[in-house]
Amino acid sequence: MSWRADILTLFPEAFPGPLGLSLAGRGLNDGKWALAATDIRGFALDRHRSVDDTPAGGGAGMVMRADVLARAIDAIAPEGDPRPRLLMSPRGVPLTQQAVRALAAGPGVVVVCGRFEGVDQRVIEARALQEVSIGDYVLSGGEIAAMALLDACVRLIPGVMGNAESGTEESFSSGLLEYPQYTRPQLFEGRGIPEVVTSGDHAKVAAWRKAEAERLTKARRPDLFAAYVAGNA
Ligand code: SAH
Repeated sequence: MSWRADILTLFPEAFPGPLGLSLAGRGLNDGKWALAATDIRGFALDRHRSVDDTPAGGGAGMVMRADVLARAIDAIAPEGDPRPRLLMSPRGVPLTQQAVRALAAGPGVVVVCGRFEGVDQRVIEARALQEVSIGDYVLSGGEIAAMALLDACVRLIPGVMGNAESGTEESFSSGLLEYPQYTRPQLFEGRGIPEVVTSGDHAKVAAWRKAEAERLTKARRPDLFAAYVAGNA
């Protein structure tokens, strides 16, 4: 069975979107992973097909109803489905490459995309939704966040990315940001490629890349650098 993502959204037409392109798209076509987007509105209970209502206690905007969302979750991922049930949410645990690796190694994911002011707290609790954030900013809906999460997972699924090594050498894999990359032309607007990179001395290239990765991480992400130093102590 291939890695399977089910998305619950009010805008299923947003999928696969960019996930249908390039290597992720080819992997999808080749059955290396599977994707289905389901319209939450199809589980509405009244003839107006309402999925949201005004917030209890007052305030701006609308809140997605617990009952409608619970029906959708129960239909798509009934009890016994082994996949984690995620809710994209700015209040969630920040997504990391480590979490992505764990998700990619599992059977797949069920992802709920919020809209409006978010979802009724009771369905988060009743269906044990794990809230995941893609960063400290607010999007207008969970769809783009879900795509970011899926894209990060899918590229780690065996057979999706051409070169298996590119997954092990890149940013975060060693706790560091990636070193600078270069390609042809040899000279670009008067700028050359650092000599060591084209020296042909693999040990020197590796040492330079490590030093650059450390320098960049220290400058840009002191939080990651501190964890890296502590881990190597
Ligand atoms: N009122 C909410 C924000 C709702 S934004 C609050 O202040 O916390 C609407 C929806 O967009 C959310 O339900 C969520 O699904 C999605 N979303 C917004 N920002 C996000 C982020 N940083 N990470 C993941 N999902 C996000």
